[in-house]
Amino acid sequence: MEAGKLKTFYDIRVLLFRGEDLHYTLASRIVDKISLSGAKTLCYKDEEELGRYIETFRNIYDSKEVLILKEFPGRKFQKCPGSPGVICCNYYLLNTCFNCLYDCTYCFLNSYLNSYGITQFINLDKLHESIFEHASDASRMYRIGTGEFTDSLMMDEITGIAENLIMRTSRHRNIFLEFKTKSDCVDHLLPIKEKGSTVLAWTLNTPVNISRYEKDTASLDSRVDAAAKAGDAGFYLAFHFDPIITYDGFLNDYDSVLNKLSENINPGKVVWVSLGCFRYSPGFKDIIKHKYRDSVLTCEEMFPGVDGKYRYLKKRRIEIYSFFYKKLRALFPLAYVYFCMESADVWYSVTGNDFASSDELEAAMGHSLRSNFL
Ligand code: SF4
Repeated sequence: MEAGKLKTFYDIRVLLFRGEDLHYTLASRIVDKISLSGAKTLCYKDEEELGRYIETFRNIYDSKEVLILKEFPGRKFQKCPGSPGVICCNYYLLNTCFNCLYDCTYCFLNSYLNSYGITQFINLDKLHESIFEHASDASRMYRIGTGEFTDSLMMDEITGIAENLIMRTSRHRNIFLEFKTKSDCVDHLLPIKEKGSTVLAWTLNTPVNISRYEKDTASLDSRVDAAAKAGDAGFYLAFHFDPIITYDGFLNDYDSVLNKLSENINPGKVVWVSLGCFRYSPGFKDIIKHKYRDSVLTCEEMFPGVDGKYRYLKKRRIEIYSFFYKKLRALFPLAYVYFCMESADVWYSVTGNDFASSDELEAAMGHSLRSNFL
């Protein structure tokens, strides 16, 4: 019932890059390796020519089969925008890539209708400097991740982004760098000696939901096995049950996933677990219906909340989160369990925590990290 084969860098069919960008370590690593894949490799000289290539390839290749190497002109470090009217965790994002090899039905990247190809940013040699520039208060715990607009590890053994960042930041124990994935690509990271406060994180779901909605990702067993290896090698771990998607018997299946985790994972390594019920922005339902015609993802009745996003009814969400929260507290007592983009009253109903702001949540998480893991 689980997803098929994991898609990798070697499934890329076209690589587009500028010859003058080969002085970037990341660009030269990718160009070197792509020759092993049989992919078509093309040089573009400017944005205009790149645009012409894209228009030609749109009708031939799927967007996720085309890798475009580009400089990123914008902010590489930013605060997660969160959502208005809900409690967020003050997470920080590193922009390293836009789009993903995998094809999750619920992925918000599906909203970017005109975007084509996987854009890998290449001017990342000094990415660690952006971290130090912003995460400069040694008394504060920073949680920073690369997995907002892509999967952090889907081709990391080629790009080397994680290893470079880990080696540069490992002495700063208050910087919890998180690499979030639905792959099992960790073997290249295991030998790193100084791991600092690096967190390798897996988004998990039931085999039913993986099979229905997470095309081209690793199976649940492969993800858990990879997480166990990472924990044994000395990395901190995190898990994200997001999105939790309902169907007949879904809670029994999530219960089995949690049992599988506790049987395989050292609980002392798990720094946080997030929970988020499936939600979507207005307009997203039409995109899903158009792109994934047979999908049952948006069949359940959902209702708009304070931030305009559609969610399951609050009563149902509280029941679901209460089930997870109780079990997770028992299995992983050191981990901080939090909700992604939920209202203060949902927080209070499930946990008894009466957070008035996102800063209060951040402070509580910081306290948990400092007292349990440093
Ligand atoms: S793994 Fe993440 S970024 Fe990739 S398609 Fe799935 S939800 Fe989107």
